[in-house]
Amino acid sequence: MRLLQNYRGNSLTDLEPYRRMLAVALEEARLGFDEGGVPVGAALFTLDGNLLSRGRNRRVQQGDPSIHGETDAFRRAGRQKSYRNLVMVTTLAPCWYCSGLVRQFNIGTLVVGESRTFSGGIDWLRQSGVNVIDLDSQECRELMEAFIAARPDVWNEDIGETGSEGAREQGSDR
Ligand SMILES: [Zn+2]
Repeated sequence: MRLLQNYRGNSLTDLEPYRRMLAVALEEARLGFDEGGVPVGAALFTLDGNLLSRGRNRRVQQGDPSIHGETDAFRRAGRQKSYRNLVMVTTLAPCWYCSGLVRQFNIGTLVVGESRTFSGGIDWLRQSGVNVIDLDSQECRELMEAFIAARPDVWNEDIGETGSEGAREQGSDR
């Protein structure tokens, strides 16, 4: 899709393909919210908009702290020859763990639903040459805010703010 490859600015028209990708990740995030989990969803697409996989944070659901939205989508895509021309879409800016995944596999483009709630590693990714597109989605932000209001305990535990459990001091489960 020409618009994707030529993306340089921030006009609504240029962003429309990315918004469609984000809608898939947001669907996953909402499923996670309904399951009582951390509502972060993600998906992997080709540059021309074909969906490879989708996933969501299942830390609470499966008791597995390694299942973030991004890693879930990544694993479900199976082996790929190259990630340079793939797009990782996530409803919330990726934590260091998931930012590391983007770098490790040279994923060329990262689309972020929002980074106000949590900015994660997006500055580092930009500096590393990743094409980071922050859609600053109100829907994504409202979902995170609803989650934080409904489950402050889980949120604070995830970002390491309880301070009482040694295993959590590194925080953040985005
Ligand atoms: Zn993460």
